[in-house]
Amino acid sequence: DIPIIAIDGPSGVGKGTLGQALVQKLGFHFLDSGAIYRALAWGVLHEGVDPGDVAAVVALARRLPVRFDAGRVLYGEHDITQAIRTEEVAAIASRVAAIPEVREALLQRQRDFAQPPGLIADGRDMGTVVFPNATVKLFLDAAPEIRAERRYKQLKEQGIDANIVKIIEEIRARDARDRNRPVAPLRPAGDAIVIDTGSMTVDEVIHTACEIIRS
Ligand code: C5P
Repeated sequence: DIPIIAIDGPSGVGKGTLGQALVQKLGFHFLDSGAIYRALAWGVLHEGVDPGDVAAVVALARRLPVRFDAGRVLYGEHDITQAIRTEEVAAIASRVAAIPEVREALLQRQRDFAQPPGLIADGRDMGTVVFPNATVKLFLDAAPEIRAERRYKQLKEQGIDANIVKIIEEIRARDARDRNRPVAPLRPAGDAIVIDTGSMTVDEVIHTACEIIRS
């Protein structure tokens, strides 16, 4: 069996940072499942699909022309690596991610990432739906204010002028939508290990995760 490490949790909790660190250490493949939903949202915007038109969004999800290549996210001929990182795209992503047929349409493409020597899978439902038999299931958590503060600092370091109150609001809104949807709601799998990263540094989170994986 191919080893799979599922990393789930709310937005901005550091799943990507932990995932990349584990990729470096273990040499596994990486699935950024959020990038697939973001690519769909980008497609909705770019192709002028009404996000409220469920049938049209599902049709797009079924033929989604997204590819991952050497760390870049490609949509047909477009390199959307940067473009999908906006809060506008994230908000539409969480909206279309609540449609059951969209999730169904994207299931197999996510499972196809499980290739030797192993996979680190980052998302909301990696341990609950996509890889229910994952070798290790981690669920990272932290209060919305703490995640907002981290994002704010990150943006400031990039020289981007951000508004902390607005960031907290956006994080709360996306959390609520991800937690309250009827399909694949954000929650830890029964056999997941929850790591409260609130008072931890990045290195401490990586260290804790490595201990869990080793045991
Ligand atoms: O993780 P990221 O912020 O890139 O995900 C964007 C949105 O995509 C999330 O807010 C969530 O609604 C959706 N998503 C999901 N299931 C996943 C990954 C992301 O529903 N496995």
